[in-house]
Amino acid sequence: MTSVQSAMLCEQMQDGEQEALQAAQRGEEGAQTSIANAQKARAKVHPLEASQQDVPAPIRRCFATVNLDAIADNLRVVRKVAPRAAVCAVLKADAYGHGMVPVARTLVAGGAEWLGVALVEEAIELRRAGIETPILVWGQTYEGAYEMMVDFDLTPVLCTVDQFEALSAAVRPGATWKVHVEVDTGMARAGVPCRDLAAFVKSVARFKNVSIDGLMTHPANADSPSDGFNRMQLHRWREALEIATSCGLNLAWLHFANSPGALSLPKAGANLKARLVGTVCMDYCMVDVTHVAGVTRGDEVVLLGEQQGASIDAAEVAEWAGTISYEIVCNIGRRVPRRYVGGLR
Ligand SMILES: *Cc1c(COP(=O)(O)O)cnc(C)c1O
Repeated sequence: MTSVQSAMLCEQMQDGEQEALQAAQRGEEGAQTSIANAQKARAKVHPLEASQQDVPAPIRRCFATVNLDAIADNLRVVRKVAPRAAVCAVLKADAYGHGMVPVARTLVAGGAEWLGVALVEEAIELRRAGIETPILVWGQTYEGAYEMMVDFDLTPVLCTVDQFEALSAAVRPGATWKVHVEVDTGMARAGVPCRDLAAFVKSVARFKNVSIDGLMTHPANADSPSDGFNRMQLHRWREALEIATSCGLNLAWLHFANSPGALSLPKAGANLKARLVGTVCMDYCMVDVTHVAGVTRGDEVVLLGEQQGASIDAAEVAEWAGTISYEIVCNIGRRVPRRYVGGLR
């Protein structure tokens, strides 16, 4: 059963439950049994699965349209830029606010070789939606995480001996688990420092049921391609690869670039802007439209996107807000229903 069907089932059962409840209130026979049956059926639908569905048509006219064809197109652009590289599509934070499962289905259909997330829970949500593509998970230092990695066939990114030990204990007898190791080439957030890599590889060699299959690092400043720091990180990355080779590692996967590292996108301009006035309240904000001709009640207001040939993109809003585009899209909350167009859902 697809998750869409199961969610529909979930809703029907909830309806059925309500009817049964009404019947019980009226004192009809057998009503209690049907309540129990309906509740049992409802319990079968995992909440993660049910939460991924298209939100029913909203009553208020506020929504975020996610164009899955545009997402598929982005993958084609990445392919063109790096035709010989495999693509790991990063879907953390609910695919940066776009809705993880529909985005994942679209990218998998488009041929993405890997999916990447920050949390084990995110990976499990993908598996529960029926996605079988290899999933890389970085950030899993909590208890029980490695058992889940094994149960849901996930590939962890490790960078401490403790993590190797915990995973090694979780792997089933006779099996070997492939992992990727993160090297810190300058981001100073996570990873084995380059100078410690050789010693690290040696110290985890005793975990015979864990094999290092990939090496990764993360650029700190890829948003500014001309930044000298990128060159320094790339230099350290090459060193790390040499060290890995001299340690006898047989690496199938090497990954350095994130999106801005792989691309430099042209910026879209906007020319029709109205100014926000006063304080943004929960669901309301006030905009000064004094200078906009022909404004009437009920007009569509675009905060992010296109209207009549003008556009405001997340990068531009981020610039005003003094942040990066990722934070803008991720902060479009769950209360704003996503409407999907194109692609696969
Ligand atoms: C978020 C993240 C990525 C992807 O970065 P993008 O800029 O979204 O491409 C890659 N690697 C790690 C470790 C990350 O946390």
